[in-house]
Amino acid sequence: MENYKKIIEDIYLEVKNVDDIGKVANYIPELAFVDSNNFGINITTINNESFGIGDSETKFSIQSVTKILSLTLAYKLEGEKLWERVDVEPSGNPFNSLLQLEADLGKPRNPFINAGAIVVCDVLISHLKNPKEDFLNFCREISDNTTLNYNEKIAQSEKSSGFRNIALCNFIKSFGNIKNNVDEVLDFYFHICSLEMTCKELSQMFLYLAEDNFITKKGTKIISESQTKRINAIMLTCGFYDESGEFAFRVGLPGKSGVGGGIIAIHPDKYCISVWSPKLNKKGNSYKGMLFLEKFTTKTTSSIF
Ligand code: GLU
Repeated sequence: MENYKKIIEDIYLEVKNVDDIGKVANYIPELAFVDSNNFGINITTINNESFGIGDSETKFSIQSVTKILSLTLAYKLEGEKLWERVDVEPSGNPFNSLLQLEADLGKPRNPFINAGAIVVCDVLISHLKNPKEDFLNFCREISDNTTLNYNEKIAQSEKSSGFRNIALCNFIKSFGNIKNNVDEVLDFYFHICSLEMTCKELSQMFLYLAEDNFITKKGTKIISESQTKRINAIMLTCGFYDESGEFAFRVGLPGKSGVGGGIIAIHPDKYCISVWSPKLNKKGNSYKGMLFLEKFTTKTTSSIF
């Protein structure tokens, strides 16, 4: 950890002063109110040592980072049958694109684009008695943190402006790949995207993807080693929308970003690192977040390649 710490401190200062060419997401009105100067980082190693710097303990809306959690729960409940509903191929398209769905007959390319995450929400609704509550409890159990919660204001803000997601859900339903009520699926989707966490909480929570033998404090094994491998593989190939190749090229770790400006990245058997900086590049990924991680894996020579 000492080695990581010094490198993180140095890169933090360097990147903090870089001119940020990104823009805060404002298509969800509530996200535009977030202070764009926030910049936080936290690393947690598999032996549970944690180090954070900057705004690492400020909560923010994790947005699409939550799609790893919804995928994890759906995969756990549905098993391999899940892949009949959603594919595992990079889309090469923006996160909210409707384009491919027509040609692919309503089967989304992967669980991390909005279309795929909406289908995953539908799968979860079919399994869970109280989807919003049960999902939250699942997240609370993994992180051993009962304070985790949705941000109702952000969920409502997206609900009132999420026209593309509403279109996506209806479009997929027309192909028969949404089984439940469209309003219920979207309400659930908007809520899981509004989940709030700090960088510190994120890097602790996602250790289950870095550590094969991870078990919760209650003694539950979340997913099998093979499922862990597969989720990491989808993160590497599809975690950054149509910039997934670029992230793998520059950073070299499986990861996932969200339009709230958060990114988590996993080094299997070593650590989970999270970065938060709200201004996004043109592809919807945190500008400084990506820059930080590129410098971090380069200086620590700790990518998976
Ligand atoms: N709730 C956001 C949306 O559906 C998530 C997108 C993201 O973080 O990439 O537009």
